[in-house]
Amino acid sequence: MTVPGLLIVISGPSGTGKGTICKSLFQRRPDIFFSISATTRPPRAGEIEGVNYYFKDKKSFEEMLDRNEFLEWAMVYDNYYGTPKTPVIEAMASGKDVVLEIDVQGALKVREKAPEGIYLFVVPPSLRQLRARIERRGTDSMEVINKRMGKALVELANLYAYNYVIVNDIVEEAVDRVESILKAEKCTVQRYRFVVDGEPDEPLVVPK
Ligand code: ADP
Ligand code: 5GP
Repeated sequence: MTVPGLLIVISGPSGTGKGTICKSLFQRRPDIFFSISATTRPPRAGEIEGVNYYFKDKKSFEEMLDRNEFLEWAMVYDNYYGTPKTPVIEAMASGKDVVLEIDVQGALKVREKAPEGIYLFVVPPSLRQLRARIERRGTDSMEVINKRMGKALVELANLYAYNYVIVNDIVEEAVDRVESILKAEKCTVQRYRFVVDGEPDEPLVVPK
């Protein structure tokens, strides 16, 4: 029985481990469609065009905005970030589970359009560990790190706009919890229709 795809939105402060969790989730569940955002942020060492992001200059991003090509977009740390609409719509239409890893502003916008989505908020075990993770990643200047720490506190205040909190203490355990949530969400009664007048051999419930 195929249950229609879930829309899963993952947010959390920068450096909390969203990318790490998504990478591990993808290894376990390669059937999930991970949306690739467009951004005007320059690539970090090791980031690949079309894998981590679609890297755009400001002008091309603004042209995409004018053409209404984004499901949502936001300005984060002085750069544009946006979710291209068409790939997400196509993946959902084909029944796939779709993951958007986006910031809180973007998640709140998606939530208005898709309240049936599953909203996950990843938090670090502590603020000290958050700073240590951003520093260890080694991709940001001290000024950017301080900006990211400041924004973390503001973002954490939005925790209750989400359905689930994932404390990223040990990566694989955090991913276990995400996987369990996805499995449980596939069983919620709202996703099924009860067949009252079927033949005796027919299923009693079918996906909506
Ligand atoms: P985000 O995508 O939320 O900005 P990243 O996935 O880039 O965060 O992780 C930030 C840094 O923290 C990376 O160096 C990553 O290897 C490390 N990290 C992620 N999760 C954990 C964890 N559970 N324990 C220790 N380090 C972690
Ligand atoms: P980073 O520069 O660390 O890759 O991402 C910075 C922030 O931008 C993170 O909180 C990340 O979730 C968010 N982000 C990435 N892609 C998008 C997007 O398409 N839309 C929005 N609103 N935020 C995004």
